[in-house]
Amino acid sequence: MTASALAAETSEILARLGVAASAFTGGTMTVRSPISGEVIGAVKEASAADMSAAIGRAHDAFLAWRKVPAPKRGELVRLFGEELRAAKADLGRLVTIEAGKITSEGLGEVQEMIDICDFAVGLSRQLYGLTIATERASHRMMETWHPIGVVGIISAFNFPVAVWSWNAALAFVCGDSVVWKPSEKTPLTALAVQALYEKAAARAGAPAGLSELVIGGKAAGEALVNDTRVPVVSATGSTAMGRAVGPRLAERFARAILELGGNNAAIIAPSADLDLVVRGVAFAAMGTAGQRCTTLRRLFVHDSIYDALVPRLKKAYGSVKVGDPREAGVLVGPLIDKASFDRMQGALSAAKAAGGVVTGGERTREDVGADAHYVRPAIVEMPGQADVVKTETFAPILYVMRWSDFDEVLKLHNDVPQGLSSSIFTNDLRQAETFLSVVGSDCGIANVNIGPSGAEIGGAFGGEKETGGGREAGSDAWKAYMRRATNTINYGRDLPLAQGVSFDVE
Ligand code: NAD
Repeated sequence: MTASALAAETSEILARLGVAASAFTGGTMTVRSPISGEVIGAVKEASAADMSAAIGRAHDAFLAWRKVPAPKRGELVRLFGEELRAAKADLGRLVTIEAGKITSEGLGEVQEMIDICDFAVGLSRQLYGLTIATERASHRMMETWHPIGVVGIISAFNFPVAVWSWNAALAFVCGDSVVWKPSEKTPLTALAVQALYEKAAARAGAPAGLSELVIGGKAAGEALVNDTRVPVVSATGSTAMGRAVGPRLAERFARAILELGGNNAAIIAPSADLDLVVRGVAFAAMGTAGQRCTTLRRLFVHDSIYDALVPRLKKAYGSVKVGDPREAGVLVGPLIDKASFDRMQGALSAAKAAGGVVTGGERTREDVGADAHYVRPAIVEMPGQADVVKTETFAPILYVMRWSDFDEVLKLHNDVPQGLSSSIFTNDLRQAETFLSVVGSDCGIANVNIGPSGAEIGGAFGGEKETGGGREAGSDAWKAYMRRATNTINYGRDLPLAQGVSFDVE
């Protein structure tokens, strides 16, 4: 397919999804497809005034939306899910074109949006509060959950649409409005999602401004973070971004849902099923070309099986098809851009300097063009957990290390600044349970006999330490999008005070 054909296909998809050509042509922010490096759109960058106006519209919408009963709010999300189902092929293809994900992962990302919509529709009838035993006679104590306001959503390039939906679907049923600042690398998929949302909103009769999209870079993100009309900001991206955003939100006492970098590991025990390990490691470490927050980056292999496993992994790495993510059989698509490629090469050099032995990692498919960056995923056998291993490099590098003592490997596992996802492959019940216990993995996600990557929406998603502590999607993550009020009602004729305090006035 020629370069112009890719741009033409992008325009056709956007048109089919209901995005006006004026939204993605003639702007100052160029959008490139990592598949070829070619320009596929030019969007307008919002000004600070645009962001402020969008927040104002979202705030007005919130004032109306909060009064709509939650199950009726769920109807908007149900209709949006229908729009997504109808548009799945087109939107998935657009994710592939703009973010470089292979076809099944592009479609999978849209499926994840559909899944969270289904979850949120059910949730719209389950926003439960507790009733609590009170120490005072003829009193009742309970908690109620109220909509909180405008939820700001800042998203990263690698999940250009799903992350917004995790936040937005919950926010809508919780009675909030949203303002979305997508990654500057993936604004076209955001435009498409917004167009689909508008269709659902028109069918549901949702108030104008309930979901605002503001396209821009860091400055737009900062404007959203600084605006006191936004009580909650969910920010997904690098730890560096979170370090800037977190204190700003804390300063104005806003709630932060931070979903930042990961440095995820798997421990391979002697009893592990190695067939499972090879498949699990391959997907977790090479899937999405190593550009998932949950990508497997550190592999601890027990001494006794190292020589049986590592050559098998190298073989899988050597045979995996790297290439155009639209082609059948390709499992590893391109890196997002040159900066990403440069960071990968820098990390490999640092790993070599620290005694690492590198297999793979070289650039491939240079014939595609200077602006497209394909790499063979790298395995790096490390003598220990050097500084480079403790850093998240957002590329397909798997650092492999040996272990022999279980307590020791647990320490090494946790000895990184990040705390997102983790796993152990073992058939030893004691090891599995210890890994999941208080003295085991310190991450927000801990798995047994599956890799650290590929979460489903029913669980709460997020991690500890430099990953930021936020939780999104399933379980009770919805509570972050609501305001809790504790209510005490006296239905008696006396006024007993708590803690036996007496305060009698004439
Ligand atoms: P990035 O930090 O470069 O950008 C993420 C978003 O933050 C973008 O929209 C960007 O414009 C915005 N931004 C940057 N600086 C900002 C600031 N000072 N104020 C406000 N907004 C700002 O990240 P990226 O390269 O797009 O994505 C990759 C990173 O995201 C990786 O570190 C990855 O682990 C992480 N990530 C984490 C999760 C998770 O759930 N934990 C999910 C996906 C990606």
